[in-house]
Amino acid sequence: MEKILCGVDLGGTKLSVGLVYPDGRILDKITVFDHTGKNEDSTVNYITELVRQVISVNNLRESDLEGIGIGFPGHVRYRDGYTITTSNLAGFKNFPLRDSLSRNFSVPVRLDNDANAQAFCEFKFGAGRGYDDLIFLTISSGIGAGIVLDRKIYRGITGTAGEFGHTIVDPHSDYLCTCGNRGCLMACACGLTLPQMFKKKTEEGIKTTLPLKDDFDFSQVDGKMIKQGLEINDPVSRSIVTDCADYIGIGIYNIFQVFNPPIIILGGGLMNLGEFYFIRIKSKFYELARDMIYDPIEIVRSEAEADAGMIGAAALLLE
Ligand SMILES: [Zn+2]
Repeated sequence: MEKILCGVDLGGTKLSVGLVYPDGRILDKITVFDHTGKNEDSTVNYITELVRQVISVNNLRESDLEGIGIGFPGHVRYRDGYTITTSNLAGFKNFPLRDSLSRNFSVPVRLDNDANAQAFCEFKFGAGRGYDDLIFLTISSGIGAGIVLDRKIYRGITGTAGEFGHTIVDPHSDYLCTCGNRGCLMACACGLTLPQMFKKKTEEGIKTTLPLKDDFDFSQVDGKMIKQGLEINDPVSRSIVTDCADYIGIGIYNIFQVFNPPIIILGGGLMNLGEFYFIRIKSKFYELARDMIYDPIEIVRSEAEADAGMIGAAALLLE
């Protein structure tokens, strides 16, 4: 029998543990949301328990697994299997996550950053099938990316390559990034910055036509609300989405100049903003790239769905 892959998507809100066939289909999965209060060791024990559970309910044994892949929402020191830092979970500063989990199993354990895992998922099973090189950019509450070069994840010396969210696209920007710098792509165009943008546009005198509740405060502004705004042609929402799309366009233009990739795949929750957003991103990119595109470049949406993190983590075993 072909061995089964086990993928662990350790997210800031959900933890999914699943069994995945080598062709990317899911055999079974367990998703929980009560892992966030746990410390590092308890998290390792919880993951161990969930992996054993999903194996046993499917009448499998650990020896039926090819191994276990973990996607982590933060910086990872890949060669040592350490998590370096994360803003999505408490703790995990320089924590040996890979080896801690490894001690509970006899099959190999791989640990990587979640965006790398998702990029590899697109490469193996999604919009990047058939390409040797691709860049995957995820645009959600934050912005991250994964680089696949010559059919392998490119990680850099530490394992943190592909942090395009922290490339600076506007040094005079009003928006400060979580890293402390001004005008990072993330600060200018990610979900977390939408409340600040909404406030700024309102202060500049643009009037929203969105129905705001009596107890409205700007912290309630999120991608869903802005999408509703787009649907009713709200000037504030349109202006925000235009700005965000232009910055993403600049970001992928920079990526294009560095890597000259055949395909750039865009994923993450903010892609749900729809066609207006996606078309604006592409038009900004083509405006900047001018006549410097000598071979076709595809800019496409991710094909991955909600389980991309988990499938990608499992796919790390196929690298
Ligand atoms: Zn930054």
